[in-house]
Amino acid sequence: MCQLIPRYLEYVKILPNGAILVGKNIVIDGHAKRPLRIITHVHADHIIDLEDSIRECKEIIATKITLDLLEALQYVNSNLLPIFKVKKRPLDYCERYLYENEEIYLLPVDHIPGAAQVRVELKSEKVSIGYTGDFKLTQKTEIMRDLDVLIIEATYGHPSYRRSYKESVNSLLADLVKEGLKRYKRVYIYAYHGKIQEAMIVLREYGLTEPYIVPSRVYNATKILEEKYQFNIGNYYKDTEVLKLKNTEGIVFFKHFNSAKHRRLDGKALHIVLTGRILAEPFKKLDDYTYAVSLSDHGDFDDLVNYVVYANPKLVVIDGSRRGYAEILREHLVEKGFYTIVLPERKGEEHR
Ligand SMILES: [Zn+2]
Repeated sequence: MCQLIPRYLEYVKILPNGAILVGKNIVIDGHAKRPLRIITHVHADHIIDLEDSIRECKEIIATKITLDLLEALQYVNSNLLPIFKVKKRPLDYCERYLYENEEIYLLPVDHIPGAAQVRVELKSEKVSIGYTGDFKLTQKTEIMRDLDVLIIEATYGHPSYRRSYKESVNSLLADLVKEGLKRYKRVYIYAYHGKIQEAMIVLREYGLTEPYIVPSRVYNATKILEEKYQFNIGNYYKDTEVLKLKNTEGIVFFKHFNSAKHRRLDGKALHIVLTGRILAEPFKKLDDYTYAVSLSDHGDFDDLVNYVVYANPKLVVIDGSRRGYAEILREHLVEKGFYTIVLPERKGEEHR
């Protein structure tokens, strides 16, 4: 088996700028001068150098939702929009796309709306390569099996990152919001893009019917998810429309994570900061009117290891170009008997 590893590494490279190169034609989640740029999802560290790719690659491949969100969130500069529209190629989950003997599939994954994993079959070389992108290990994440190479993220690749409460945090968040509405009639929720939408959907699933007030960029993205892709959100308004809701008994405001530091602690609202950080408990009281809630889009340490165990690939490549604990995860996977390397190679320990 070991002598196969150098052969596999001819087809997988990760550049320090976050570009994941697969086969001869494909670059994922970063830029390189190759024909096909694939985007797994719209988080900032996966749309790196998108404008270079729009100029220099032949096609920009992603799910329809991701392509629409890139436009709605204004991640594509308006002067590049016409080229983007020509070069974009939406792929459905599990739809096959063949480009010069390299067969591409986007597969479902639980992360943020539109997110995908990428599977590439190099037909001439008979090598199968999968890249998870970012993921949570739930029913919605399809495990890629029979791979020669699995490329995996390492955000929480440290054994101190375990969420014992990951099954229950959604219902706890819903209870906290309901309690806040009962007490103050106003609840402010602060989060990054992607997580905002996830929280909006989760709260509706738990029966919350109160109106949502969102910033206009978030409004546009939400409208696309709701109207084009049948996400169940409903009853949401732009922040400029808040006066229309004068008589309502309760309102949930969604705001960008960075504006949490400007929150007003005047006893007229409950504030909830959604953090990706893993806390010892699902909630942490920050002051009399503010809670931090650990709602992550990423799997914890056990999820990362379990994905590898279930997928059982011949070689594991850990993405060390993004935030995380690639080296520590590698040590644990090697201990479990997996041939594992970190790319790009670098000396010393990982930084967060
Ligand atoms: Zn992400």
